[in-house]
Amino acid sequence: MAQPNDPALRSWIDIAPTSDFPIQNLPFGVFDKDEQPGPRLGVAIGEYVLDLYAVAQFGFFEDLDLGPKMPKVFRRGALNSFISLGRPAWRAVRQRVSELLRHDNPALRDNEEAMRACLVRQREVRMRRPVKPRNYTDFYSSIEHATNVGIMFRDPANALLPNWRHIPIGYHGRASSIVVSGTDIRRPNGQRKAPDAAAPTFGPSQQLDFELEMAFVVGKGTHLGETVPIQYAEDHIFGLVLFNDWSARDIQSWEYVPLGPFLGKSFGSSVSPWVVTLDALEPFRVAGPVQEPEPLLYLRQLDAHNFDIKLEVDLQPENSAATTISRSNFGLMYWSMAQQLTHHASNGCNLEVGDLYASGTISGPTPDSLGSMLELAWRGTRPVPLADGSERKFLQDGDTVTMRGFCEKDGLRIGFGEVTGKILPASAG
Ligand code: CA
Repeated sequence: MAQPNDPALRSWIDIAPTSDFPIQNLPFGVFDKDEQPGPRLGVAIGEYVLDLYAVAQFGFFEDLDLGPKMPKVFRRGALNSFISLGRPAWRAVRQRVSELLRHDNPALRDNEEAMRACLVRQREVRMRRPVKPRNYTDFYSSIEHATNVGIMFRDPANALLPNWRHIPIGYHGRASSIVVSGTDIRRPNGQRKAPDAAAPTFGPSQQLDFELEMAFVVGKGTHLGETVPIQYAEDHIFGLVLFNDWSARDIQSWEYVPLGPFLGKSFGSSVSPWVVTLDALEPFRVAGPVQEPEPLLYLRQLDAHNFDIKLEVDLQPENSAATTISRSNFGLMYWSMAQQLTHHASNGCNLEVGDLYASGTISGPTPDSLGSMLELAWRGTRPVPLADGSERKFLQDGDTVTMRGFCEKDGLRIGFGEVTGKILPASAG
């Protein structure tokens, strides 16, 4: 039986060549549909969602040994319980879904009752946040981003701090305010102080920004005290989502000394609804940048642990056309996900299923590949021109930011869909 990643596979569902969701992808998500009570787990295929609870009810998973939680595990508000079943279960389900959707398999295709129950158009469902993250960590792993921020805020001659090439820098973020794509983001109020101001004031952030990131979902937890050797790090990763780490730069720059990001970050982060599995991304594995100096032994990786994922950011003012303001690539990251995870666990801190670990802003080496307004407009000194003739230093109320990501090779496209969010005015007081 062909493997789910086989580029020769075709589905009996009509799928456009430009779709993010061909039969080789099969990402997992959670959706609601009007006429049925409660959320369900689904798999994206072309313009459709395959309802995994319905698939289970029709008996298509009967022989897979998914344990006693079947089929209830497919009728939850988050992927966490399903992910907790472990990699053999995720793989068995993805393999079976792949088989059911193949052009030459009549089992679902020719069973009209089952097909009607199991397939629903994506435009007819509401997607939920795919996981309930109990923990969220944000790294700082793009050397271009860290260098740019160092040039702007500290010393151009010593832009990278002395620890940066030795440690995947990170901080513990806020999990409760992570929302699914499409959720509006309210401009935060906060305390800020311009360098030349005598005293701080409290009010709406004047420097609201996005951060182009990807995040991985922890698929296998660890016990407190346990560490993860780097060669096993990816065993703990379920898959990836697009991640917008909204940031209020004025609040951030006043509050962050000496303990790091706090309220300038915790008002909201947005995730894309479909989790693309690490298995689906396997054909797009690439080596990351050469690391100099060589990392300490526990962070040393022998194989390729980066992934070639093309990324784009659109900014759309209210009632106006969108402009693509950045094109970057996840493959540029200096520190890999494996190194981030192994470092995170190296002190014995326990990982939990569903945790989200974000990459940090993904900036490239060119002016059009920067992953934040802070860098694109270079701290407000070179405003970003938009298609409607306006320009931006930071985000305005009514602006919508949309990020997309996809891998492409030899005619195969594995995509993430998008993560989008619109800025609402700050609340009074
Ligand atoms: Ca960030």
